[in-house]
Amino acid sequence: MALIQCSECSNQVSSEAKICPHCGFKLRKIRDSKLAKDTKAGLGKGKEWLVYISVPLAIFLCRFVFHILFRD
Ligand SMILES: [Zn+2]
Repeated sequence: MALIQCSECSNQVSSEAKICPHCGFKLRKIRDSKLAKDTKAGLGKGKEWLVYISVPLAIFLCRFVFHILFRD
């Protein structure tokens, strides 16, 4: 068991503690895992959207460029 510093009130808190006993701030361990999860989910969604958009767009652009280049 180690002591960490509360990022809110700067007091020493047990790394086992889920919230700071001094100010009630939710400690980093929980906050980071939640943040990572949210970020991961957000990125996954973003990527999916990008694939759905970029594939037809790439095909369209290729056809457009070929049409311009080999028109004559
Ligand atoms: Zn605190």
